[in-house]
Amino acid sequence: MSATDYTVDLRDIKFVLFEQLRAHEQLALIPRYKDFDRDMYDAVLDMAAELAETTVAPVNKVGDREGCKFDGNGNVTTPACFKPAFRAIVESGLVAASMNIEHGGQGLPHVVDVATHEMFSGAATAFNMYPGLTRAAANLLTWEGTPAWITSTAVHRMLAGEWSGTMCLTEAGAGTAVGDNRARATPTADSNIFHLSGEKMFISGGDNDLTTNILHLVLARLPDAPPGTKGLSIFVVPKFMFAADGTLGARNDIKVVGIEHKMGINGSATCTIALGATGTCVGYLLGVPGQGMEIMFRMMNEARIGVGIQSLGLASAAYQNALAYAKDRVQGSAVENFRDADPPRITINQHPDVRRMLATMKCTVDAMRSLIYSVANRFDRTHHGEAAEKEYLLGLVELMTPIIKAHCSDKAFEVCVTALQVFGGYGYIGEYPVEQHVRDAKITSIYEGTNGIQAMDMLGRKMRKGQGMLFMSWLNEANEELDRCRTIAGLADEVAGLERARDQLGQTAMHLGMVGGQGNLRGAMLQATPFLELFGLVVLGLHSLWQARIAHLAIQAGARPEDLKFYKGKLMNARFYIKNVLPKATALAKAIQGGDESCLEDGLFE
Ligand SMILES: Cc1cc2nc3c(=O)[nH]c(=O)nc-3n(C[C@H](O)[C@H](O)[C@H](O)COP(=O)(O)OP(=O)(O)OC[C@H]3O[C@@H](n4cnc5c(N)ncnc54)[C@H](O)[C@@H]3O)c2cc1C
Repeated sequence: MSATDYTVDLRDIKFVLFEQLRAHEQLALIPRYKDFDRDMYDAVLDMAAELAETTVAPVNKVGDREGCKFDGNGNVTTPACFKPAFRAIVESGLVAASMNIEHGGQGLPHVVDVATHEMFSGAATAFNMYPGLTRAAANLLTWEGTPAWITSTAVHRMLAGEWSGTMCLTEAGAGTAVGDNRARATPTADSNIFHLSGEKMFISGGDNDLTTNILHLVLARLPDAPPGTKGLSIFVVPKFMFAADGTLGARNDIKVVGIEHKMGINGSATCTIALGATGTCVGYLLGVPGQGMEIMFRMMNEARIGVGIQSLGLASAAYQNALAYAKDRVQGSAVENFRDADPPRITINQHPDVRRMLATMKCTVDAMRSLIYSVANRFDRTHHGEAAEKEYLLGLVELMTPIIKAHCSDKAFEVCVTALQVFGGYGYIGEYPVEQHVRDAKITSIYEGTNGIQAMDMLGRKMRKGQGMLFMSWLNEANEELDRCRTIAGLADEVAGLERARDQLGQTAMHLGMVGGQGNLRGAMLQATPFLELFGLVVLGLHSLWQARIAHLAIQAGARPEDLKFYKGKLMNARFYIKNVLPKATALAKAIQGGDESCLEDGLFE
């Protein structure tokens, strides 16, 4: 493997899709997907993998070094190599493969879309943020509250890579506390048009030279709007004004006034944007006044799962790099030969401590992929069946969103750090891609709502919804999977380990419900992050076990010799995860239920 290689784990991606989820069979029953079959899915995945490895991956390091440039006059230049790669992605039709054909998408299932985005993010995370955010913005603009002329003019241009999109929430004093947004929107004589003023910061892709126009989705406050999030409305604010036939007009007064110098994702422009600072900034209202957060949440929920996919892509890339390096790097000798003055030299993948690192990364990455793809598959299934079934499926997507966003991003960062460790000193220098993976991965725990906020959302909202109904549904499904695994004798230890962790999770959830129920909200929220980690550990354990069951069945059915190693890897994953990683759940459950609140005492950090 060269220093810039990126390898798509296509074998595992296809295992999850076609052996574990049996997505092609399930999807064939859904009218929306009836025209697709396994061959077509394979063709899309193979094409995306080739594009990711040969066209996108080469821009990763160059883009990081070159970064983005601001000309001091509102214009941002992205790394030069991004343009041909962007065109190639657009031409492949994979910017938003799962969007409807009438909007310029391909109508493919989400789960296939997710796989392609994992590949592009793994190949070049910063680069993939431009198509990723554009697709999320375009998706939002298909919502029925969007003025019809904007949907019909903008969405297919965005998916064709002519125009791009951003989401503009953050302001200097309003990051997590979005309700503190101060940007203003003033009505005009034309009821469809508003004039905006204020400043947004940290806006990804706030300007770029990849597309001819940008549609910013901006949260702002109308005069007399109530304080907090209820007073926020959402506006489409174009970089260039446009007519219904797509002709571009005058430059709107939404301009970048600076870009950030960052730790990672250097190819992604992170911009401060001034609205109406020197002229008129025109915005079009989406939905009705005060509906801003509700509408923006549609984009944010997609973006949160997007962050999980980005995390998975990075973690998989880092693991693949570490594995290839460990197989190749000769250093030291086998520990059994310690008395020998000149023992045979071995590659580092043979040292037990390096194997421990490789196993930790492998079981984490594989379980993350299983979780994220299975949630995308649920989403696809919402296109079918009764309303109650749809509500049930969406409820579980909702419950898993903080785990995908927060737990997967935290674990992905750990995977990247571990991958760097496998490289030793070579990991720390710029020649190999892992130091960039570490830098690029860190942002995933911060944006789209910090992981602390995800944890509070899980404990304060998702766990309480319908008096714990979402959690109970998840628990029922977990128990069904455990029942299936119990029929396989070779998995008895793993099933027992997971049952223990499941019980500890349930007891801890009840304990925290009581703490909150007694009015000790600070005490409950103090445990939100440990609780999310506990829940995430159990969820990933369950996915490891599920995959091990499928692998067991495949081996029993007489797997081909070339597949045997792959399936044995799945058995190792479940065993290693449940015996070495999952025990942390016991410690977390004990600490949470211990209820120590010493850090909340007055006078310590004030
Ligand atoms: C590279 C990059 C790209 C970004 N892209 C975008 C973008 O495209 N669009 C956009 O709108 N924004 C974007 N952001 C902004 C990002 O979403 C915010 O940085 C993030 O929401 C956190 O806000 P903050 O930085 O103000 O931190 P703060 O809100 O000040 O948080 C600081 C710390 O305090 C904690 N905290 C804050 N409030 C609470 C609370 N109530 N309870 C418990 N803990 C709390 C947080 O969890 C965090 O640990 C981007 C940021 C970066 C760095």
